[in-house]
Amino acid sequence: DSITVAELAKRMGEKAADLVKSLFNMGMMVTVNQTVDQDTAELLVNEFGHKVQRVSESDVDIDTSEDVDPEDTLKSRPPVVTIMGHVDHGKTSLLDAIRGADVAAGEAGGITQHIGAYQVTPKGGDPITFLDTPGHEAFTEMRARGANVTDIVILVVAADDGLKPQTIEAINHTKAANVPMIVAINKIDKDGANPQKVREELLQHEVIVEAMSGDVQDVEVSAKKKTNIDKLLEAINLQAELLELKANPDRAADATVVEAKLDKGRGPVATVLIQRGTLKVGDTFVAGPAAGKVRALVDDHGRRVKEAGPSFPVEVLGLSALPSAGDPFTVVENEARAREVADYRQRKLDEQRTTAAPMSLENMFAKKGAQTIQFPMIIKADVQGTAEAINAAVNKISTEEIEVRVLHSGVGAITESDVTLAASTGAPIIGFNVRPNAKAREVANREQVEFRYYDVIYHLTDWVKEAMAGELGPEI
Ligand code: GDP
Repeated sequence: DSITVAELAKRMGEKAADLVKSLFNMGMMVTVNQTVDQDTAELLVNEFGHKVQRVSESDVDIDTSEDVDPEDTLKSRPPVVTIMGHVDHGKTSLLDAIRGADVAAGEAGGITQHIGAYQVTPKGGDPITFLDTPGHEAFTEMRARGANVTDIVILVVAADDGLKPQTIEAINHTKAANVPMIVAINKIDKDGANPQKVREELLQHEVIVEAMSGDVQDVEVSAKKKTNIDKLLEAINLQAELLELKANPDRAADATVVEAKLDKGRGPVATVLIQRGTLKVGDTFVAGPAAGKVRALVDDHGRRVKEAGPSFPVEVLGLSALPSAGDPFTVVENEARAREVADYRQRKLDEQRTTAAPMSLENMFAKKGAQTIQFPMIIKADVQGTAEAINAAVNKISTEEIEVRVLHSGVGAITESDVTLAASTGAPIIGFNVRPNAKAREVANREQVEFRYYDVIYHLTDWVKEAMAGELGPEI
């Protein structure tokens, strides 16, 4: 854990320049915006004659991992579904077609609102919640932040196009997340449609559908003609039943932010998905670095609701600031507590932003949770095929303890935006037969971002393995 000199000075009530001088006398060249570690901070505090009071993270932040609901409080809840697949295979069309199949909407009225998630109740079936942002980027991003909200993945494959790179990526992400999959073979209305070929191609990626004697459900659909949408929803209901999804609705709400935006008239608005408990108007909460009190709850039909239970998506009004997708949203006992946690998280974010400590292998491994250490990196290559190959190669090195995470990969010179991403995440930038442009180099110098250049993939993977071994000790 570390703190910027400026922040430390503020908390000690001393001048930052005096701290810098003192550090200099200890042999450390540090500017006010750079960070020092806890031991150094303690030394400084003593040096200035103050008392050290270490506040552990768990004293300030909320940790719900130990707070498990007793079995007898659990009630069944709707599944949360994410749609993935290759671009143009029909993800958006399918989301629209499914939304149109909601029977509850017609009865209650209201206009469809895109709030980031919606719930449908199919005719004769049970409610299902869909995340409205298709694609695996959102899915992986949320997961990376520890938000595992998806219970079931619908993999859309166009029957006239078959498996494509993003289909395969979606399969890999789904498998990595251990989330069950249902295959929607789309565009069966088209002339060149060949559903059987899709099934065979899936086989090559170890997705064995029921029609091929496997246990992955597959449904032939046409999002355009709205064919078999009911069958797809039935398949989801069936899968959900097998999963026996449950949550305790009678407690303070724990939710996850799925979308957040600054609304002109309403201020910061976040769509949250309730994971357990019931969120009510008037509840005090923390959402990432934002705090607030629920002023109003709005559902996916633009209707005001008084409360929202497990798996229910609602827009929350009454936030002090904007959280990010994937941030935990937790109801707390009072405003003082909400403020304390939100301030603490905001401070941590500010520190991360202002940290200009030289990039070292230690701080490259951003620690996440107790078990997994993340090894982030950004990859730029000269051609798409190479970028994909590198991606696959480094991902394969991930172990139980360390997860290699490619934050971004692309083609072309290393740009300023790559460097900004690197600076904010502590990731090195890997240039494969490419170099940074002048602007990127300039920003990188200032932010002390590390570049590594390669032209042979295994040289790169060797380095990654070495770095990982260094982090974990010799047992790897
Ligand atoms: P996304 O990129 O995966 O979200 O795909 P879209 O939903 O935007 O669909 C891409 C294109 O395929 C659009 O022009 C859709 O009209 C078309 N499309 C989607 N589903 C079907 C379908 O079932 N049949 C036909 N013929 N076209 C479809």
